Amino acid sequence: MSFATFGLSDEIIRAVTERGYTAPTPIQAQAIPAVLTGGDLLAGAQTGTGKTAGFTLPILHRLSDKSVKGPSSGRPPIRALILVPTRELAAQVEESVRDYGKYLKLSSMMMIGGVNINPQITRLKSRVDILVATPGRLLDHVQQNTLSLSQIEILVLDEADRMLDMGFIRDIKKILALLPKQRQNLLFSATFSDEIRALADNLLNQPALIEA
Ligand code: AMP
Repeated sequence: MSFATFGLSDEIIRAVTERGYTAPTPIQAQAIPAVLTGGDLLAGAQTGTGKTAGFTLPILHRLSDKSVKGPSSGRPPIRALILVPTRELAAQVEESVRDYGKYLKLSSMMMIGGVNINPQITRLKSRVDILVATPGRLLDHVQQNTLSLSQIEILVLDEADRMLDMGFIRDIKKILALLPKQRQNLLFSATFSDEIRALADNLLNQPALIEA
């Protein structure tokens, strides 16, 4: 199987090829077509399986696809939110978004705690299509009114089990309440506790189920 079989745009295929990937990993082979349908997804995936490209590539495709709803007028809204448990993962995921999207006209931002908030506030004044964030700092911005999540089209909870282990469930619930009802939801987790299942039941609408 090759990446070309999914119908991803030439710009995305070019970036993936330059990265040296020749074939999709098992999680990518399942996640990419599922995410491209626009439906919700529940994915069991460990780190190291290629899950990041599994959600990033189809998200980039959907956001750059002219036939999918885009911003109408005014300052372009943030369209995709990727929530991750740690600063390190945020940096990795945002680097992937930038690299796989380098031939597209989409811009991304990493939003993490432990650094000065002011440069982030400045960055938010220009276009951000895809936001990769840890929950605490994201809520700091919400509180300061420097961020609007009212037009999010796609939400990803990456390493959801680690987010719950780190005590982020209340933050996640607060963030979910700020999102528009009509959106695509993707939940990735390495393990499935009762707490994760409850979150998935709450969040996902008839999700495709995949495991790798
Ligand atoms: P992830 O599980 O998303 O953290 O990815 C694990 C590693 O696999 C990263 O270093 C990726 O760059 C690499 N990777 C992802 N997809 C592929 C692929 N299709 N072929 C080869 N390497 C890949």
